[in-house]
Amino acid sequence: MNQNKKRSKSIEKHPIVAIVGCIHGDELIGKRVMEELKRIKLKKGKLITIIGNKKALRMKRRFVDQDLNRSFPGRSDGNYEQRLACDLKENLCGADFVIDIHSTVTDVKDLVIITKVNSEILDLLNFFAPRRVALMTPDIGEKALTYYCKAGISLEYGKDKNMTVQRKVFRDIMIMLAKLDMIDYKFKKNSYKPEFYKIEGVIKKQKGFNLNDEVKNFKFVKKGALIASNKRKSEQAKKNFYPILFGKKSYQDIYGFAAKKVEKF
Ligand SMILES: [Zn+2]
Repeated sequence: MNQNKKRSKSIEKHPIVAIVGCIHGDELIGKRVMEELKRIKLKKGKLITIIGNKKALRMKRRFVDQDLNRSFPGRSDGNYEQRLACDLKENLCGADFVIDIHSTVTDVKDLVIITKVNSEILDLLNFFAPRRVALMTPDIGEKALTYYCKAGISLEYGKDKNMTVQRKVFRDIMIMLAKLDMIDYKFKKNSYKPEFYKIEGVIKKQKGFNLNDEVKNFKFVKKGALIASNKRKSEQAKKNFYPILFGKKSYQDIYGFAAKKVEKF
């Protein structure tokens, strides 16, 4: 039996799914979803729930020493988050599928982020019910947890304290567990066609410039269109792109990411 067949047979018999929340200590949505998940009864397999950064969560901070989701693969002799990254990687390397739950301060909704493409990830996307998927490779993004898992995805479904967002995250995880035959759960099939994006770069912030209100997440921006301006100067798009995770308050040095739409990965 080849490696792939062996893998899918073992997943069929005993799937191991890990849910990770609070990689960022100021994002509580993962913790709340995990509390709901703890109540479900499994028919088979294993469902692991892990709080990513307990100390930052207790301190009500995003991180202690440095952003955990930029700290992988970690260092055993490093600072708090670098050591934590090492431990998390160890704990999660045995899981078939890893779902890493985040929230965003931008108006992005229903976005799944992947950091690499392989057959395991494509399997996971088949089991999951994503509305939009964006590929953010480590050369553009950060050294994120999912890059070091067998098959991992991050969810950016919306704002942290929004109940609709929480319900959607919970529902999509339930659909996934049902498709893996780990639970009994009836769900309606999605009516939309998933959208796929490949992130190609960032759009840097210029001091004193205001982001144009017309630039909206997932809304096509044509080359030459106004991106930002101050009283005297303006900045135009150097090429066509789709904005992703764009917002005035999204990041310190960038407005967000520039992506192109693709048919599939
Ligand atoms: Zn986050």
